[in-house]
Parts: sequence; C-alpha cells; structure tokens
Amino acid sequence: MELSTRITNITGGGSDGWGVFYRARQMRRDGVPVTELTIGEHDIGTDADILAAMHAAAVGGHTGYAEVPGIASLRSKVAARIQDRTGVPTTADNILITPGGQAALFAAHSAVCNQGDVALYIDPYYATYPGTIRAVGATARAIVTSPETAFQPSGAAIQAQAQDAVSLLINSPNNPTGAVYSHATLAGIADACQAHDLWLISDEVYDTQVWDGTHISPRSLPGMVERTLVVGSMSKSHAMTGSRVGWICAPAEVVTHLINLATHTTYGVAGFIQDAAEFALGQGDAVEQAVAAPFKRRRELTLQALAGQNVVRPLPVQGAMYAMLDIRATGLSGEAFANGLLDAEHIAVMPGESFGVAAAGHIRVAMTVDDDRYVAALKQLVRFAQAQVSQ
Ligand code: PLP
Repeated sequence: MELSTRITNITGGGSDGWGVFYRARQMRRDGVPVTELTIGEHDIGTDADILAAMHAAAVGGHTGYAEVPGIASLRSKVAARIQDRTGVPTTADNILITPGGQAALFAAHSAVCNQGDVALYIDPYYATYPGTIRAVGATARAIVTSPETAFQPSGAAIQAQAQDAVSLLINSPNNPTGAVYSHATLAGIADACQAHDLWLISDEVYDTQVWDGTHISPRSLPGMVERTLVVGSMSKSHAMTGSRVGWICAPAEVVTHLINLATHTTYGVAGFIQDAAEFALGQGDAVEQAVAAPFKRRRELTLQALAGQNVVRPLPVQGAMYAMLDIRATGLSGEAFANGLLDAEHIAVMPGESFGVAAAGHIRVAMTVDDDRYVAALKQLVRFAQAQVSQ
C-alpha cells in the first residue's frame, strides 16, 4: 500500500533550513539558556478580557457544533472591519470563518487550483507556502525577489512566470522580510493578475502591524475585487495564535464553494472561540494597537542597536514582527551564521535560507522577547558578526 504523492510531497523533501530552530529547542531542553528570536509568537498571552468572553461563551453553552460558515454576527463584524478599512463594499456573504489563517490559505488554494495547475508565490516566503500549494495538488512556482529592491516583487517578474499559472499568493506586511508593499508594487501585481487571468490570494494576517508606509489591500484596486481572496487572522492582531480563528474574504460565489469545502473538512470553528473573536473585534483598534506596540517599539530598538556599524545591515523594517538582517559582509551563509551564533552566544535566529533562495546571506530576527533581552541579544549578534570579519 502506498500513501498519496500529494501527502508525501508536502514538504518537498531535502533540508528546509529549520535545523537551527530544532537545535535551539533541544539546547533549551538540555538546560542551556537560549534566547529564541525564531518564530512569530508574541511574548504576551491573549488578553484577559478576551479569555473571559471565551469562558463565558463556553460556560453559557456555545460548545456544540457551530454554524459551518461562521456565526452570522462574526461574519458581519469581519465584513464591516474589511469594508471600513478598505472602502470595498463587503457583506457576511463574502466571509468564511476558518480555523486560522493557515487553514484559510489551504482552502483558498483548494478553491482556485486544479490538480497540476501552477500556483505562484513570492520568495522569500512564509515557511508553509510551497507546502500548502503542494497539499492541494498544485505545482508551486517561486517568483524570486531581491534584497536590492527591498524584496518588493515587480510586475514584470510576475508576468514572466505567469503564462501557465492560475494563481498568485502574496503577503504584505511580509513575513519574513518586514516589507510593506507599496502602491506601485501592488499596481504591478494587479496588472499581472489581470493580464494573465490569475486569482490573487492576498495574505494580510499582519495588517495591524505597519510601522512605515500604509497597508493597502489589493482587493481595493480597480478590477481586483472579483479575483481576490483575502486571508485574515486573529492570531497576530489579537495575540490569539492558539485559538485558531481567521477568515477568507472572497466573492460570494467563491465563499459558497468554500463553505462546501469547510463542511467536508474542518466543519467550522468552535462557537466559544468565535464568540471570543467577535468580542475582541468589538474592542476596536485600541486592543490591536496594544498588541502591536511592543513590535513597533522593538523596531526602533533594532535600528538603534544596529546603528554605527556596517557588518549587520537591517532591511527596511516596515511591518510585521520581524527584522531581516543582511549579514553578507561576514562572508557566511545565513545558515552558517545562525549556527555559529547559536553555539557562540546562545541566540537562535532563522537563517534566510529557510525562506527560499532570495534571502540567502540574511537572517530573520523575531522581535519577540522583552526589550532589554532583545537589545542585549542584538548587541551580542553584532559582536559575533564583527568577530567573523576580523578573523
Ligand atoms: N501567514 C503568514 C505570513 C504567517 O506568518 C502566519 C503565521 O506565522 C500565517 C499565515 C498563519 O497564521 P495563523 O494560522 O495562526 O492565522
């Protein structure tokens, strides 16, 4: 008996660049005090008021099967949030509530890709992207960007790869690069989608974490509303990573089919989690800003800690909870640097190579430990980098 190639090929085989992360976890288990600047998990938990709303909903009886598309009031609230922020008319019929953004990415690709279709994504990429595309039976094809253009993809580069493609996946604000796509970048993307009749899957899970520039949802650009599926999540905006609640915003006909998919896969999201999400969204922008504030502050601390030297150069940290650092001046690969840093200083960062080929010679630092520890770690990191140059 054999397993399906669809499931055995999800990881794509080979090294995925996560060796440093797993090694750091093992060192911690062995009692070594490693400072982890690896994954995108807040250093605060979910707010106590949101947890109280979740508790009240569960105790109040919202523990049975919930409506599969999402409870009507939450769908409406998400629709209103999107309409307010983008100006695009949006109703509950445009919204499917999902168990987090990751399930939304899978559902969105399931909706638009047939077996063997080419689905485009941008390199550097969030770790699961190519695997998610392979998981729906499609062929993942990367559009490789460059640090010299701050990892903003060009319309021309997309068009050059789009002849036989059906979809394009983008992410702004971006993990891992911290880029926020400019209007010009998004206009180039919209042109490419229209010229090649591509679906656009726009992952906007970091939409509340913008430090420089403005978040523009490409669904709001001319001619895009009918071909765009937006992925959203409460994970990053409300520090609700473990609650697993997010959404897809798409044309109503697409949502009808996505509901069929949800009925046959997840069967929806727990009612008490949805009630808590509705409560959280009802708290307005203040809660989102409070959750984002530590990253905004640490973004400034990053720039200050790295000022006055040239060996470790930060890419513009425009959004999200990460800083992408160019360490090519050390002559090391991102992976060699990250391994050396872990051994010498007990600091764990992600090698750029974990996110594709475009970020080789870079490292990604998650700004997810308290300010003092964070600044101390950056200073150790610079010291380590300078020692490589003078060797
Ligand atoms: N998209 C991006 C770019 C992410 O960085 C993440 C998580 O780190 C996700 C989607 C998935 O988030 P979740 O499934 O928790 O909503």
